Amino acid sequence: MPPDGGPDRPCRSPFLDNSGCLRYKQKPLGILKCWKDEGTGWTMAEVIDGNRIAQAVRDEVRTQAFELKEKKGITPGLAVILVGDDPASKIYVGRKEKAAAEAGFLSREFRLPAETTEDRLREIVAGLNADSSIHGILVQLPLPKHINPDVVIETIDPRKDVDGFHPVNIGGLFTGRPGHRACTPLGVIELLDRTGIPIEGKEAVIVGRSNIVGKPLALMLLNRHATVTICHTRTKDLGAVARRADILVAAAGRAEMVRGDMVKDGAVVVDVGINRRADGKLVGDVAFAEAAAKASYITPVPGGVGPMTIAMLLRNTLGAAQQKAQAR
Ligand code: NAD
Repeated sequence: MPPDGGPDRPCRSPFLDNSGCLRYKQKPLGILKCWKDEGTGWTMAEVIDGNRIAQAVRDEVRTQAFELKEKKGITPGLAVILVGDDPASKIYVGRKEKAAAEAGFLSREFRLPAETTEDRLREIVAGLNADSSIHGILVQLPLPKHINPDVVIETIDPRKDVDGFHPVNIGGLFTGRPGHRACTPLGVIELLDRTGIPIEGKEAVIVGRSNIVGKPLALMLLNRHATVTICHTRTKDLGAVARRADILVAAAGRAEMVRGDMVKDGAVVVDVGINRRADGKLVGDVAFAEAAAKASYITPVPGGVGPMTIAMLLRNTLGAAQQKAQAR
C-alpha cells in the first residue's frame, strides 16, 4: 500500500511510474525518490536529495553575492588554509575553493608545508583578520600534531570564523545569540527545513557527541524546540533510545551501525557519517535499506548531508560579508 501521509507528512498523490517506483505528482524540492524494498514491498521512506538542496542554497548565495557586489561594491572573500598534505583534506579544500569561486567569491588559498609552526600559522591568520577583502577564514582540520587547533581557532576573528568553531560562536549558539554556526549541523537543519519536516516538539536523538557535529546539532535542535537526547559510546541500550526518535541523526563515524530495528516507524533518519567500507564503497552510519523500510524520510550517503556542509560554509561567508556591509 502506498503511504497515506503521517500526521506531519505532506499528502500528495502517489502513483507508480514505468519502472514500478512509487512517485508523487508534486515532489517537493529535494525529494529524490521513494524507496522500494524488494522483500517487504512498498515502504514509506522518501530519499532527501542533499545535492539538489545544496545546489539551491548555492544558487541563492551566488545571486546574493552578486547583489552585494552591485549595490555595495563588496565581493565576499574566503581564505582557506591547508597545512600539510593529508589527501582527504586536500580534496575537501579543493572543493571548498571551487565552490567559493563558483559563488562569485574572492577565494584565497594557503597551502603550507607540514613543518609550518603554530606561530607562523597564527601570524597568517592574524594577517587575514586584518585583511578587509577577506570575510571568512577556514583552517582545514586536522592540523599536524605539533599545532594546537584550539589555539589557532581562537586566533581567528569570531566574525570571520565561518566554520563556527570559535568559542565566542559556540557560546552564541549556547545562549541563542547571533554568530556563525558549524556548517555540518547547520546543513542538517537546512535539509529538514527545506524538506518541510517540523522540528518543534519532536523527539530528536543524535548518535555522536563530537564538538563539530553532535553537540552543536543538539543545541540547534534544542533552540528549535525539539526534545533532544545525545548518545555516545557509553550510552546503555542505544537501540531503545534511538527507537524513541522522531528525528534520528547518526554521526558516530561507524559504518552502518544504525540498523533497521533501531528506527521507529515513520522516523526521519539523517545520516551524517561518511565511511569507506573494506570493499571500497562509501557508506554512512545507517544501514540504508533497513532504515528506509521503517523511516518516513532518509538521507543517502553520498548525496545527503555531505553537500550541505560546503553550501552552509558559503552562506556563512556571504553572511559575514553582508554584516560588514551593514556595519559600514
Ligand atoms: P568523532 O569521531 O569526532 O565523534 C564520533 C562520536 O560518535 C563520538 O562522540 C562517539 O562517542 C560516538 N560514537 C562512536 N561510536 C559509537 C557507538 N558505537 N555508539 C554510540 N556512539 C558512538 O566524529 P565526527 O567528527 O563527529 O564525525 C562523525 C561522522 O560524520 C564521521 O563519519 C565523519 O566522517 C562524518 N562527518 C561528515 C561531515 C559531512 O560533511 N557530511 C562532516 C563532519 C563529519
